[in-house]
Amino acid sequence: MFDLTGKVAIVTGGSRGIGRAASEALAAQGAHVIVNYVRGEAEARAVVDAITARGGKAEALGFDVADLPATEAAIAEAAKRLGRLDILVANAGIAIDGLLLRIKEEDLDRLFAVNVKGSIASARAATKVMMRARTGRIVFLSSVVAEMGNVGQAAYAATKAALLGVTKSLAREYAGRGITVNAVAPGFIDTDMTTTISAEMKEGLTKMVPLGRTGRAEEVAAAIAFLCSDEASYVTGETLRVNGGMYV
Ligand code: NAP
Repeated sequence: MFDLTGKVAIVTGGSRGIGRAASEALAAQGAHVIVNYVRGEAEARAVVDAITARGGKAEALGFDVADLPATEAAIAEAAKRLGRLDILVANAGIAIDGLLLRIKEEDLDRLFAVNVKGSIASARAATKVMMRARTGRIVFLSSVVAEMGNVGQAAYAATKAALLGVTKSLAREYAGRGITVNAVAPGFIDTDMTTTISAEMKEGLTKMVPLGRTGRAEEVAAAIAFLCSDEASYVTGETLRVNGGMYV
């Protein structure tokens, strides 16, 4: 599809779901992929094994994106060791749902720590390396709910909407350094994050999707791979919706 031979990519939260699919897609195009995880070491190693079994290059790297100094140090060290860092997919994220009156302060703090602060810290570490090379690709994972909202997701939607502001700001801030910054906004994708949703709610959500089905992680990964490619060289500050038409 795209040629990423010789490039180094970091995918935060690459051990499962969309991050796993993105890691595999980037590796399939030739990138050396650093697969980050926080708890799922075995899952991350399984992703690495799947990539290397197909002749690709990958390694697992554990750090909690909510630990900002650890995140920045891990990304800087990996870039130094591999001699470059071309691509960051800031994908690590959590969902904690609840109606407004039931949202706990600790849940708000955790959501913002992982989804917003963790993504910003990852981007800051990557940008430092990319600025020197005067080239780079950063992709943030937003969500359809950032733009359309959803009952029970005010806090989660706030974090995902924040990333759209971060995307547009960094796109302007680093365009002059050859770094493009974009967001992918998935709709309802079948991953561990959405397995807890009841069958009834899933049916209701699927009815809101003109394409009539939930999405696959690979379908989101294809959009991410495009934004990380040379072919996307004139795309920055953009949000690419991968939602089956759920919000247009
Ligand atoms: P998932 O299946 O729950 O996987 C989450 C990934 O993030 C795992 O690899 C997990 O690592 C990692 N992670 C979580 N907290 C972390 C932390 N503090 N530090 C480092 N890694 C961490 O989620 P997903 O559905 O693939 O979602 C991926 C991204 O897409 C998220 O940002 C999510 O908000 C966004 N998104 C998903 C959907 C959807 O329908 N699934 C829709 C819109 C947007 P461990 O394995 O170590 O736990």
